[in-house]
Amino acid sequence: PSVASCLLRELHRPRPLAMAEEVVRELRASFAAERTRPAEWRAAQLRALVKMVDEKEADISAALHEDLAKPHMESYLHEISLVKASCQFAIKGLNSWMKPEKIPAAITTFPSSAQIVAEPLGVVLIISAWNYPFILSIDPVIGAIAAGNAVVLKPSEIAPATSKMLAKLLPEYVDSSCIKVVEGGVPETTDLLEQRWDKIFYTGNGTVGRIVMAAAAKHLTPVALELGGKCPVVVDSNVDLHVTAKRIAVGKWGCNNGQACIAPDYIITTKSFAPQLVDSLKRVLTRFYGEDPLQSADLSRIVNSKHFQRLTDLIEEKKVADKIVYGGQTDEKRLKIAPTVLLDVPRDTALMTAEIFGPLLPIVTVEKIEECFDLINSKTKPLAAYLFTKNKKLQEDFVANISTGGMLINDIALHLANPYIPFGGVGESGMGSYHGKFGFDCFSHKKGVLIRGFGGEATARYPPYTVEKQKI
Ligand code: NAD
Repeated sequence: PSVASCLLRELHRPRPLAMAEEVVRELRASFAAERTRPAEWRAAQLRALVKMVDEKEADISAALHEDLAKPHMESYLHEISLVKASCQFAIKGLNSWMKPEKIPAAITTFPSSAQIVAEPLGVVLIISAWNYPFILSIDPVIGAIAAGNAVVLKPSEIAPATSKMLAKLLPEYVDSSCIKVVEGGVPETTDLLEQRWDKIFYTGNGTVGRIVMAAAAKHLTPVALELGGKCPVVVDSNVDLHVTAKRIAVGKWGCNNGQACIAPDYIITTKSFAPQLVDSLKRVLTRFYGEDPLQSADLSRIVNSKHFQRLTDLIEEKKVADKIVYGGQTDEKRLKIAPTVLLDVPRDTALMTAEIFGPLLPIVTVEKIEECFDLINSKTKPLAAYLFTKNKKLQEDFVANISTGGMLINDIALHLANPYIPFGGVGESGMGSYHGKFGFDCFSHKKGVLIRGFGGEATARYPPYTVEKQKI
């Protein structure tokens, strides 16, 4: 081929931006043709997702293992089974969610009837994160489909096996004229963000959350931002200690080895209770992961060397290293970090100020447990806050005085498995929520509709506003 023809071909090669434009154009056409609106289409897509999960469970689990060495049991409990349950919940709820909601008519508009109609927003973009790369991708898609939208899913490039698996599997099961997967990293996501969307749903860190929101602002596109933060766990002395330690351990290290947005980030307990808590955590951890946790097949690895380096830097800081009371072992080659508990780390260290997002768990001690309120409220609002206590008054005070995305008393992370609980952040931990019907609501516009007949004429509302009329 001549130089000129090569140049010409290069000139006409689809650029990523053109690709992003093309994807949106196709989805807009599908949406305009009302393909995504009928309840039958929505239910069929959701059923197809259930079928995909049933038939491809092994592939999904293998991809999660490749990306994170996630144990199969964890993949099943925290991603695969929850996605299936989420689909089934939406299939069951769909007809009633879609039904216009009759609302009271006001005397000011008498006679009239009123309703709220949930309508799809249009073409939506879902950008997901690497740590739960299957559920964080599919769960918002479920809400978007249930609400009747056309969708682009952009999985995380940091979990490449899952991203590839999603890009391969979804078109085999769902209607690819309305639901598309676009793979890629920052350049591809930037191109996607240039487009006009009817909603952007982003899961990840707050720095990129700001980029997403700024891009959305250009088109006045609404956003849901599912971000993170430092999730505190307050442990009172009035607890069943063994159960508390087990639940904290499984909620931290049994959830992707701490790489979870709602994983405990730090514990607050009293000085007098801390030694018992540390002992109990040590016993539980040794039982869960053995004497050499780096060899345990039940612990996920750190996602990549950049995050491995970030986490090891946190514990290698001089003021932090000698505060380790359990764990601390690392294996750079296999990207493994052992469950690590630290006691009384200085509060000005990175470990105590930045989100940890890994297997390190510092314990902060206070004289009285009530000091937890000021301590937590001095930081940005977390995505989840946990309290372990039998003390009802302390439970009530915790609910009343801590502002957080979600809250769970006497356990860790389980609140996300209840589809009646909205899942989302507040302040720095994000905005908007999903799960169950909240996912449907997140991707719907609630259109208020008032219907009047031709009777009930009140003459006072019509000019001329004469003195006689003003008397009325
Ligand atoms: P990540 O690196 O996978 O990034 C998330 C997404 O943002 C990816 O799809 C990526 O391609 C995209 N992205 C990255 N840089 C970008 C840029 N400059 N412009 C446009 N797009 C860009 O994930 P992460 O941010 O490392 O995820 C960890 C964070 O996410 C933690 O803070 C965690 O707490 C939070 N998180 C929150 C939830 C939740 O449900 N609220 C769930 C998981 C993780």
